[in-house]
Amino acid sequence: MATNAPRVAGRHFLQIPGPSPVPERILSAIARQTIDHRGPDFGKLGLRVLDGMRSIFKTRGAVVIYPASGTGAWEAALANTLSPGDKVLMVETGHFATLWKTMAGKLGVEATFIPSDWRAGADPAAIEAALREDKEHAFKAVCVVHNETSTGSTSRIDEVRKAIDAAGHPALLMVDTISSLASVDYRHDEWGVDVTVAGSQKGLMLPPGLSFNAVSEKALAASKASRLPKSFWGWEEMIAAGKSGYFPYTPATNLLYGLDEAIQMLHEEGLDAVFARHLRHGEATRRAVAAWGLENLCTNPKHFSPVLTAVVMPEGHDADRLRSVILDAFDMSLGTGLSKVAKKVFRIGHLGDINDLTLVGTLGGVEMGLGLAGVPHKAGGVAAAMAYLAEGKREGGAKAA
Ligand SMILES: *Cc1c(COP(=O)(O)O)cnc(C)c1O
Repeated sequence: MATNAPRVAGRHFLQIPGPSPVPERILSAIARQTIDHRGPDFGKLGLRVLDGMRSIFKTRGAVVIYPASGTGAWEAALANTLSPGDKVLMVETGHFATLWKTMAGKLGVEATFIPSDWRAGADPAAIEAALREDKEHAFKAVCVVHNETSTGSTSRIDEVRKAIDAAGHPALLMVDTISSLASVDYRHDEWGVDVTVAGSQKGLMLPPGLSFNAVSEKALAASKASRLPKSFWGWEEMIAAGKSGYFPYTPATNLLYGLDEAIQMLHEEGLDAVFARHLRHGEATRRAVAAWGLENLCTNPKHFSPVLTAVVMPEGHDADRLRSVILDAFDMSLGTGLSKVAKKVFRIGHLGDINDLTLVGTLGGVEMGLGLAGVPHKAGGVAAAMAYLAEGKREGGAKAA
């Protein structure tokens, strides 16, 4: 985007697994004049977006909106519920789970990691076993990343809940849905989640800058006894002000205009249709990857992500070189491999405001890029994806949803 670079025609393909492309309707909503955040119109907007987010989280409980990236809402979840020296059980699904664990350590919380090879979601049996061994109930919380954005594995939160119940353990359940909320089926109340963490720039289709906590009654009770220091992140003031739609400090007013629009758009399409669209796009992408003769990083079909697919590079080929060839040739951004899988995988984002043709274009860019970068592969990935996508339409919409 340097001013003296030649113009590149058409819209940039932002196919990283968040931030996802922002729809024009949301961009227009955000472009409106900022209003007085203590005035009467703001209160109505505040109530509307808080209530709207309850419908997205599927909760009747409290929701808190921070002017912060998702990382802030991670910290809020821990700082509001725990005390120095508390133990928590976390699952090493990948890079983001590892960052959340590191954060817990910095805050003075002792996190035990259930290790994994980064190729699947959380194993409910391993969680149940760890909790059964914890006879003193030292673990105050179980923390799981719903959709591990670094690997493309989606954990089954309903099964995690069952595992905690089967062990008869009172730990809180905290779930990071930063890259899954509004893309993958999620039910805060039904699944007995105590704190759900979310962010604006992935399934919610907004620019970065907002993050969320959905809070159960049990988590609220825990917050009364929690002794970790918190000020900016404190729930109490946020929830009290939120009852009338306001914030204790200046909110990100314009992003809230965008959030209001995003919630409307999600309900216009229907959440179930949104989830079905993501499932379809995940399946189409995996068919392309298989036809190329390449490997999906996630090996457990129960955990295949509807949000992104992490593709393993053939031995001796650098994923970041492929990404840069594709960016230069086709103006498309793909996700990089993070930490342990750096250069070994690239990630195709298929989340947010995308449709079948966006996906076909994305996969076309990948297939051409594989050729240009000299990465060994077979042709026919895009054709396989197209055949699947077209078949869904032919059956009259049931599958196409
Ligand atoms: C993106 C992401 C984060 C980090 O969120 P930021 O908005 O970058 O702070 C954490 N967890 C998951 C699963 C993510 O996808």
